[in-house]
Amino acid sequence: MTDKRSIVIKIGSALLANQDLLTPRFGFLQRLLEDVARLRADGWSVILCSSGSVALGLKIVGETPETAGVSDKQAAAACGMPLLLNAYKQVGHEYGFEIAQILLTLGDFEDHRRFLNTRNTVHRLLEAGVVPIVNENDSITTEQIRVGDNDRLAAKVAQMVGASDLIILTGVDGLYDRNPDDPEAQFVPEVEDVGLYMDATKGKSTLGTGGMATKLQAANMAQEAGVVTWIAQGEVDRPLSTVLSGERRSTKVLANPNPLSGWDSWIANRLQMAGSLVISDEAAKMLGADDRPITRSQIVSMDGDFTRGDVLHIYDQAGTELARGLSDFTSEELRVLTVNPDTPAEQLLGYRSKGEVVRFNNLVMLQSHHLQWDAPSSMVYEVAPPDEDSPLRNA
Ligand code: GLU
Repeated sequence: MTDKRSIVIKIGSALLANQDLLTPRFGFLQRLLEDVARLRADGWSVILCSSGSVALGLKIVGETPETAGVSDKQAAAACGMPLLLNAYKQVGHEYGFEIAQILLTLGDFEDHRRFLNTRNTVHRLLEAGVVPIVNENDSITTEQIRVGDNDRLAAKVAQMVGASDLIILTGVDGLYDRNPDDPEAQFVPEVEDVGLYMDATKGKSTLGTGGMATKLQAANMAQEAGVVTWIAQGEVDRPLSTVLSGERRSTKVLANPNPLSGWDSWIANRLQMAGSLVISDEAAKMLGADDRPITRSQIVSMDGDFTRGDVLHIYDQAGTELARGLSDFTSEELRVLTVNPDTPAEQLLGYRSKGEVVRFNNLVMLQSHHLQWDAPSSMVYEVAPPDEDSPLRNA
Protein backbone atom coordinates (compact mmCIF):
# COMPACT_ATOMS: atom_id res chain seq x y z
CA MET A 1 0.00 0.00 0.00
CA THR A 2 1.09 3.53 -0.56
CA ASP A 3 0.46 6.37 1.85
CA LYS A 4 0.96 8.99 -0.86
CA ARG A 5 -2.02 10.82 -2.30
CA SER A 6 -3.13 9.04 -5.44
CA ILE A 7 -4.67 10.60 -8.49
CA VAL A 8 -6.28 8.97 -11.51
CA ILE A 9 -6.17 10.81 -14.82
CA LYS A 10 -8.53 9.86 -17.64
CA ILE A 11 -7.43 10.90 -21.09
CA GLY A 12 -9.93 10.87 -23.95
CA SER A 13 -9.21 9.48 -27.44
CA ALA A 14 -9.55 12.86 -29.16
CA LEU A 15 -6.57 14.18 -27.19
CA LEU A 16 -4.39 11.17 -27.99
CA ALA A 17 -5.19 10.49 -31.63
CA ASN A 18 -4.98 12.93 -34.49
CA GLN A 19 -8.55 13.30 -35.75
CA ASP A 20 -7.71 12.98 -39.49
CA LEU A 21 -4.59 10.83 -39.57
CA LEU A 22 -5.47 8.70 -36.53
CA THR A 23 -1.83 8.79 -35.38
CA PRO A 24 -0.53 9.52 -31.85
CA ARG A 25 -0.40 13.18 -30.85
CA PHE A 26 3.13 13.33 -29.44
CA GLY A 27 2.89 17.05 -28.69
CA PHE A 28 -0.04 16.45 -26.36
CA LEU A 29 1.68 13.46 -24.75
CA GLN A 30 4.73 15.58 -23.98
CA ARG A 31 2.64 18.26 -22.29
CA LEU A 32 0.74 15.62 -20.34
CA LEU A 33 3.68 13.55 -19.17
CA GLU A 34 5.75 16.60 -18.33
CA ASP A 35 2.95 17.52 -15.93
CA VAL A 36 2.70 13.94 -14.64
CA ALA A 37 6.40 14.21 -13.75
CA ARG A 38 5.63 17.48 -11.95
CA LEU A 39 2.84 15.85 -9.93
CA ARG A 40 5.07 12.92 -9.05
CA ALA A 41 7.77 15.33 -7.86
CA ASP A 42 5.11 16.94 -5.65
CA GLY A 43 4.44 13.57 -4.01
CA TRP A 44 1.46 12.28 -5.98
CA SER A 45 1.07 8.66 -7.07
CA VAL A 46 -0.27 8.90 -10.62
CA ILE A 47 -2.40 6.37 -12.48
CA LEU A 48 -3.42 7.02 -16.07
CA CYS A 49 -6.58 5.66 -17.59
CA SER A 50 -5.98 6.12 -21.28
CA SER A 51 -8.30 5.74 -24.23
CA GLY A 52 -6.96 5.80 -27.76
CA SER A 53 -6.20 2.19 -28.62
CA VAL A 54 -9.22 1.83 -30.90
CA ALA A 55 -8.69 5.19 -32.60
CA LEU A 56 -4.98 4.52 -33.20
CA GLY A 57 -5.60 1.05 -34.65
CA LEU A 58 -8.49 1.86 -36.99
CA LYS A 59 -6.35 2.70 -40.01
CA ILE A 60 -4.38 -0.54 -39.72
CA VAL A 61 -7.59 -2.56 -40.06
CA GLY A 62 -8.83 -0.33 -42.87
CA GLU A 63 -11.68 1.34 -40.96
CA THR A 64 -12.72 4.82 -39.84
CA PRO A 65 -14.59 5.89 -36.68
CA GLU A 66 -17.75 6.11 -38.81
CA THR A 67 -17.48 2.69 -40.49
CA ALA A 68 -16.12 0.47 -37.70
CA GLY A 69 -18.36 -2.20 -36.19
CA VAL A 70 -17.73 -4.15 -32.97
CA SER A 71 -15.30 -6.72 -34.39
CA ASP A 72 -13.44 -4.00 -36.31
CA LYS A 73 -12.99 -2.08 -33.07
CA GLN A 74 -11.81 -5.21 -31.25
CA ALA A 75 -9.18 -5.76 -33.94
CA ALA A 76 -8.31 -2.05 -34.02
CA ALA A 77 -7.73 -2.06 -30.25
CA ALA A 78 -5.28 -4.94 -30.62
CA CYS A 79 -3.38 -2.95 -33.28
CA GLY A 80 -3.58 0.42 -31.53
CA MET A 81 -2.62 -0.70 -28.02
CA PRO A 82 1.10 -1.28 -28.77
CA LEU A 83 1.25 2.06 -30.61
CA LEU A 84 -0.35 3.85 -27.68
CA LEU A 85 1.84 2.21 -25.06
CA ASN A 86 4.97 2.72 -27.13
CA ALA A 87 4.18 6.42 -27.35
CA TYR A 88 3.68 6.62 -23.56
CA LYS A 89 6.85 4.64 -22.95
CA GLN A 90 9.02 6.82 -25.16
CA VAL A 91 7.72 10.08 -23.77
CA GLY A 92 7.67 8.73 -20.18
CA HIS A 93 11.39 7.97 -20.50
CA GLU A 94 12.02 11.59 -21.53
CA TYR A 95 10.58 12.61 -18.19
CA GLY A 96 12.35 9.91 -16.22
CA PHE A 97 9.66 7.37 -15.37
CA GLU A 98 8.53 3.90 -16.35
CA ILE A 99 5.02 2.96 -17.38
CA ALA A 100 3.13 -0.33 -17.15
CA GLN A 101 0.02 -1.59 -18.86
CA ILE A 102 -3.07 -2.98 -17.12
CA LEU A 103 -5.90 -4.17 -19.34
CA LEU A 104 -9.16 -4.81 -17.51
CA THR A 105 -12.56 -6.23 -18.30
CA LEU A 106 -15.92 -5.75 -16.65
CA GLY A 107 -15.44 -8.92 -14.59
CA ASP A 108 -12.33 -7.49 -12.95
CA PHE A 109 -14.55 -4.86 -11.33
CA GLU A 110 -17.73 -6.86 -10.76
CA ASP A 111 -16.07 -9.89 -9.13
CA HIS A 112 -14.81 -8.82 -5.71
CA ARG A 113 -11.84 -11.20 -5.64
CA ARG A 114 -10.59 -10.05 -9.03
CA PHE A 115 -11.19 -6.46 -7.95
CA LEU A 116 -8.89 -6.96 -4.94
CA ASN A 117 -6.25 -8.76 -7.03
CA THR A 118 -6.20 -5.93 -9.50
CA ARG A 119 -5.94 -3.42 -6.69
CA ASN A 120 -2.90 -5.22 -5.28
CA THR A 121 -1.18 -5.10 -8.65
CA VAL A 122 -1.82 -1.39 -9.04
CA HIS A 123 -0.50 -0.72 -5.54
CA ARG A 124 2.60 -2.81 -6.19
CA LEU A 125 3.33 -0.80 -9.34
CA LEU A 126 2.88 2.47 -7.47
CA GLU A 127 5.21 1.22 -4.75
CA ALA A 128 7.82 0.59 -7.45
CA GLY A 129 7.37 4.15 -8.72
CA VAL A 130 5.88 2.99 -12.02
CA VAL A 131 2.94 4.79 -13.67
CA PRO A 132 0.19 2.25 -14.39
CA ILE A 133 -1.75 2.89 -17.60
CA VAL A 134 -5.16 1.29 -17.42
CA ASN A 135 -7.54 0.62 -20.30
CA GLU A 136 -10.35 -1.76 -21.04
CA ASN A 137 -9.26 -4.93 -22.85
CA ASP A 138 -11.40 -4.02 -25.86
CA SER A 139 -10.09 -6.87 -28.03
CA ILE A 140 -11.75 -9.56 -25.93
CA THR A 141 -14.87 -7.81 -24.67
CA THR A 142 -18.22 -7.85 -26.41
CA GLU A 143 -21.09 -5.41 -26.30
CA GLN A 144 -22.81 -7.27 -23.45
CA ILE A 145 -19.76 -7.68 -21.22
CA ARG A 146 -17.91 -4.45 -21.46
CA VAL A 147 -17.59 -1.31 -19.40
CA GLY A 148 -17.78 0.62 -22.66
CA ASP A 149 -16.39 3.97 -21.63
CA ASN A 150 -13.19 4.91 -19.89
CA ASP A 151 -14.86 7.64 -17.81
CA ARG A 152 -16.57 5.10 -15.56
CA LEU A 153 -13.59 2.75 -15.81
CA ALA A 154 -11.38 5.55 -14.44
CA ALA A 155 -13.86 6.22 -11.62
CA LYS A 156 -13.79 2.54 -10.68
CA VAL A 157 -10.00 2.61 -10.66
CA ALA A 158 -10.08 5.71 -8.43
CA GLN A 159 -12.45 3.91 -6.06
CA MET A 160 -10.29 0.77 -6.23
CA VAL A 161 -7.06 2.48 -5.16
CA GLY A 162 -8.65 4.95 -2.73
CA ALA A 163 -7.54 7.93 -4.83
CA SER A 164 -8.28 11.42 -3.56
CA ASP A 165 -8.77 12.92 -7.02
CA LEU A 166 -9.82 11.99 -10.54
CA ILE A 167 -9.11 14.35 -13.45
CA ILE A 168 -11.07 13.70 -16.64
CA LEU A 169 -9.25 15.44 -19.49
CA THR A 170 -11.43 16.09 -22.48
CA GLY A 171 -12.05 18.43 -25.42
CA VAL A 172 -14.28 20.89 -23.53
CA ASP A 173 -13.51 23.00 -20.49
CA GLY A 174 -16.12 21.37 -18.28
CA LEU A 175 -19.86 21.13 -17.70
CA TYR A 176 -22.47 23.60 -18.94
CA ASP A 177 -26.00 23.82 -17.63
CA ARG A 178 -27.33 23.13 -21.14
CA ASN A 179 -25.95 22.34 -24.59
CA PRO A 180 -22.75 24.47 -24.77
CA ASP A 181 -23.74 25.60 -28.31
CA ASP A 182 -26.71 27.41 -26.78
CA PRO A 183 -25.66 31.08 -26.29
CA GLU A 184 -27.51 31.08 -22.95
CA ALA A 185 -25.42 28.15 -21.65
CA GLN A 186 -23.71 28.84 -18.33
CA PHE A 187 -20.49 27.17 -17.21
CA VAL A 188 -20.84 25.12 -14.01
CA PRO A 189 -17.68 25.38 -11.89
CA GLU A 190 -18.80 23.18 -9.01
CA VAL A 191 -21.30 20.35 -8.65
CA GLU A 192 -22.61 18.59 -5.62
CA ASP A 193 -25.65 16.80 -7.05
CA VAL A 194 -24.84 15.49 -10.54
CA GLY A 195 -28.47 14.38 -10.92
CA LEU A 196 -29.41 18.03 -11.60
CA TYR A 197 -27.37 18.07 -14.81
CA MET A 198 -28.03 14.65 -16.35
CA ASP A 199 -30.68 16.01 -18.74
CA ALA A 200 -28.35 18.75 -19.96
CA THR A 201 -25.66 16.34 -21.08
CA LYS A 202 -26.95 14.52 -24.12
CA GLY A 203 -24.47 14.09 -26.99
CA LYS A 204 -21.29 12.15 -27.66
CA SER A 205 -17.72 12.70 -28.76
CA THR A 206 -16.78 11.39 -32.22
CA LEU A 207 -13.58 9.49 -31.41
CA GLY A 208 -14.21 8.16 -27.92
CA THR A 209 -17.29 6.47 -26.53
CA GLY A 210 -18.19 8.74 -23.65
CA GLY A 211 -19.97 12.08 -23.60
CA MET A 212 -20.69 14.45 -20.73
CA ALA A 213 -23.35 12.05 -19.38
CA THR A 214 -20.84 9.24 -18.79
CA LYS A 215 -18.48 11.79 -17.22
CA LEU A 216 -21.16 12.75 -14.73
CA GLN A 217 -22.00 9.11 -14.02
CA ALA A 218 -18.30 8.53 -13.42
CA ALA A 219 -18.10 11.58 -11.18
CA ASN A 220 -21.08 10.29 -9.21
CA MET A 221 -19.38 6.94 -8.63
CA ALA A 222 -16.22 8.73 -7.60
CA GLN A 223 -17.94 11.16 -5.23
CA GLU A 224 -19.76 8.34 -3.41
CA ALA A 225 -16.35 6.73 -2.84
CA GLY A 226 -14.95 10.02 -1.46
CA VAL A 227 -13.05 11.05 -4.60
CA VAL A 228 -13.10 14.61 -6.04
CA THR A 229 -13.57 14.69 -9.83
CA TRP A 230 -12.33 17.47 -12.09
CA ILE A 231 -13.60 17.69 -15.67
CA ALA A 232 -11.24 19.83 -17.74
CA GLN A 233 -9.97 20.70 -21.20
CA GLY A 234 -6.78 18.74 -21.90
CA GLU A 235 -5.42 20.85 -24.73
CA VAL A 236 -3.22 23.22 -22.68
CA ASP A 237 0.24 23.39 -21.13
CA ARG A 238 0.40 21.82 -17.66
CA PRO A 239 -3.04 20.25 -18.17
CA LEU A 240 -3.12 18.70 -14.68
CA SER A 241 -1.38 21.03 -12.26
CA THR A 242 -3.33 24.06 -13.49
CA VAL A 243 -6.56 22.22 -12.64
CA LEU A 244 -5.45 21.23 -9.16
CA SER A 245 -4.15 24.73 -8.41
CA GLY A 246 -7.32 26.38 -9.74
CA GLU A 247 -5.30 28.45 -12.24
CA ARG A 248 -7.80 27.72 -15.00
CA ARG A 249 -11.40 26.80 -15.04
CA SER A 250 -12.74 23.30 -14.81
CA THR A 251 -15.78 21.65 -13.30
CA LYS A 252 -15.17 20.25 -9.83
CA VAL A 253 -17.52 17.53 -8.63
CA LEU A 254 -17.35 17.46 -4.87
CA ALA A 255 -16.69 14.27 -2.93
CA ASN A 256 -19.39 13.09 -0.57
CA PRO A 257 -18.16 14.18 2.89
CA ASN A 258 -19.43 10.87 4.30
CA PRO A 259 -18.25 8.43 1.67
CA LEU A 260 -19.31 4.80 1.61
CA SER A 261 -16.90 2.23 3.03
CA GLY A 262 -14.82 0.26 0.52
CA TRP A 263 -17.19 -2.70 0.69
CA ASP A 264 -20.35 -0.61 0.40
CA SER A 265 -18.84 1.42 -2.40
CA TRP A 266 -17.97 -1.77 -4.26
CA ILE A 267 -21.58 -2.93 -3.90
CA ALA A 268 -23.22 0.37 -4.81
CA ASN A 269 -20.95 1.46 -7.68
CA ARG A 270 -22.08 -0.69 -10.56
CA LEU A 271 -21.00 -0.80 -14.17
CA GLN A 272 -23.68 -3.22 -15.27
CA MET A 273 -26.91 -4.54 -13.80
CA ALA A 274 -26.75 -8.28 -13.06
CA GLY A 275 -30.32 -8.52 -11.81
CA SER A 276 -33.11 -6.66 -10.10
CA LEU A 277 -35.87 -7.22 -7.59
CA VAL A 278 -39.09 -5.37 -6.94
CA ILE A 279 -40.09 -5.64 -3.30
CA SER A 280 -43.52 -5.03 -1.77
CA ASP A 281 -44.43 -1.57 -0.52
CA GLU A 282 -44.50 -2.86 3.03
CA ALA A 283 -41.00 -4.30 2.70
CA ALA A 284 -39.82 -1.09 1.02
CA LYS A 285 -40.90 0.95 4.06
CA MET A 286 -38.77 -1.19 6.39
CA LEU A 287 -35.81 -1.61 4.06
CA GLY A 288 -32.48 -0.83 5.68
CA ALA A 289 -33.90 -0.77 9.24
CA ASP A 290 -33.12 -3.04 12.18
CA ASP A 291 -30.57 -5.29 10.47
CA ARG A 292 -33.36 -6.85 8.40
CA PRO A 293 -32.47 -8.91 5.34
CA ILE A 294 -34.56 -9.05 2.17
CA THR A 295 -36.51 -12.27 2.31
CA ARG A 296 -38.20 -14.23 -0.43
CA SER A 297 -41.69 -13.39 0.78
CA GLN A 298 -41.01 -9.66 0.15
CA ILE A 299 -40.24 -10.11 -3.52
CA VAL A 300 -42.91 -9.05 -5.98
CA SER A 301 -40.95 -9.61 -9.19
CA MET A 302 -37.43 -10.23 -10.38
CA ASP A 303 -35.38 -9.86 -13.53
CA GLY A 304 -32.03 -11.04 -14.82
CA ASP A 305 -29.86 -14.07 -15.00
CA PHE A 306 -27.55 -13.79 -12.02
CA THR A 307 -25.39 -15.92 -9.84
CA ARG A 308 -24.70 -16.01 -6.11
CA GLY A 309 -22.63 -12.95 -5.16
CA ASP A 310 -23.91 -10.78 -8.01
CA VAL A 311 -25.28 -7.38 -7.06
CA LEU A 312 -29.04 -6.90 -7.37
CA HIS A 313 -30.78 -3.55 -7.81
CA ILE A 314 -33.74 -3.27 -5.44
CA TYR A 315 -36.84 -1.32 -6.55
CA ASP A 316 -40.11 -0.39 -4.93
CA GLN A 317 -43.36 -1.07 -6.77
CA ALA A 318 -43.34 2.41 -8.31
CA GLY A 319 -39.99 1.59 -9.97
CA THR A 320 -37.74 3.75 -7.75
CA GLU A 321 -34.40 2.21 -7.02
CA LEU A 322 -33.90 2.01 -3.25
CA ALA A 323 -30.82 -0.08 -2.64
CA ARG A 324 -28.28 -2.48 -4.07
CA GLY A 325 -27.20 -5.73 -2.47
CA LEU A 326 -25.44 -9.04 -2.96
CA SER A 327 -27.63 -11.97 -3.83
CA ASP A 328 -27.28 -15.10 -1.74
CA PHE A 329 -28.90 -17.15 -4.49
CA THR A 330 -28.68 -17.73 -8.21
CA SER A 331 -31.61 -16.43 -10.25
CA GLU A 332 -32.75 -20.03 -10.79
CA GLU A 333 -32.76 -20.74 -7.05
CA LEU A 334 -34.57 -17.53 -6.33
CA ARG A 335 -37.27 -18.30 -8.88
CA VAL A 336 -37.85 -21.67 -7.27
CA LEU A 337 -37.90 -20.12 -3.80
CA THR A 338 -40.35 -17.38 -4.70
CA VAL A 339 -42.84 -19.52 -6.59
CA ASN A 340 -42.99 -22.02 -3.75
CA PRO A 341 -43.31 -19.63 -0.83
CA ASP A 342 -44.66 -22.24 1.58
CA THR A 343 -42.09 -24.95 0.94
CA PRO A 344 -39.06 -24.81 3.27
CA ALA A 345 -35.98 -23.42 1.51
CA GLU A 346 -33.91 -26.44 2.46
CA GLN A 347 -36.31 -28.78 0.71
CA LEU A 348 -36.24 -26.69 -2.45
CA LEU A 349 -32.52 -26.07 -2.57
CA GLY A 350 -31.12 -29.31 -1.22
CA TYR A 351 -28.93 -27.50 1.32
CA ARG A 352 -29.53 -25.64 4.57
CA SER A 353 -30.44 -22.00 4.09
CA LYS A 354 -32.21 -19.30 6.08
CA GLY A 355 -33.75 -18.08 2.86
CA GLU A 356 -32.30 -14.58 3.18
CA VAL A 357 -32.02 -13.24 -0.34
CA VAL A 358 -29.88 -10.22 0.54
CA ARG A 359 -28.33 -10.12 4.00
CA PHE A 360 -28.38 -6.81 5.84
CA ASN A 361 -24.56 -6.57 5.78
CA ASN A 362 -24.58 -6.88 2.03
CA LEU A 363 -27.25 -4.26 1.45
CA VAL A 364 -26.48 -0.62 0.66
CA MET A 365 -29.24 1.96 0.73
CA LEU A 366 -28.72 4.45 -2.09
CA GLN A 367 -27.89 7.87 -0.79
CA SER A 368 -30.13 10.65 -1.91
CA HIS A 369 -27.75 11.94 -4.57
CA HIS A 370 -26.51 8.60 -5.83
CA LEU A 371 -27.75 8.32 -9.43
CA GLN A 372 -30.43 5.67 -9.57
CA TRP A 373 -30.85 3.31 -12.49
CA ASP A 374 -34.15 2.77 -14.25
CA ALA A 375 -35.77 -0.60 -13.62
CA PRO A 376 -35.53 -2.97 -16.61
CA SER A 377 -38.43 -2.22 -18.92
CA SER A 378 -39.86 -5.66 -18.41
CA MET A 379 -39.56 -7.07 -14.96
CA VAL A 380 -40.21 -10.25 -16.84
CA TYR A 381 -40.88 -12.66 -14.07
CA GLU A 382 -43.92 -11.92 -11.94
CA VAL A 383 -43.94 -13.90 -8.74
CA ALA A 384 -47.25 -15.73 -8.63
CA PRO A 385 -48.29 -19.26 -7.79
CA PRO A 386 -47.01 -21.41 -10.66
CA ASP A 387 -49.29 -23.52 -12.81
CA GLU A 388 -49.86 -27.05 -11.65
CA ASP A 389 -47.55 -28.36 -14.33
CA SER A 390 -44.88 -25.64 -14.00
CA PRO A 391 -41.41 -27.13 -13.98
CA LEU A 392 -40.56 -24.67 -11.18
CA ARG A 393 -43.05 -26.11 -8.70
CA ASN A 394 -41.12 -28.05 -6.09
CA ALA A 395 -38.22 -28.21 -8.48
N1 GLU B 1 -11.15 1.75 -24.48
C1 GLU B 1 -11.29 2.57 -25.64
C2 GLU B 1 -9.96 2.81 -26.31
O1 GLU B 1 -8.94 2.62 -25.78
C3 GLU B 1 -11.87 3.94 -25.35
C4 GLU B 1 -13.12 4.00 -24.54
C5 GLU B 1 -13.50 5.48 -24.30
O2 GLU B 1 -13.15 6.33 -25.10
O3 GLU B 1 -14.14 5.78 -23.30
O4 GLU B 1 -9.90 3.24 -27.42
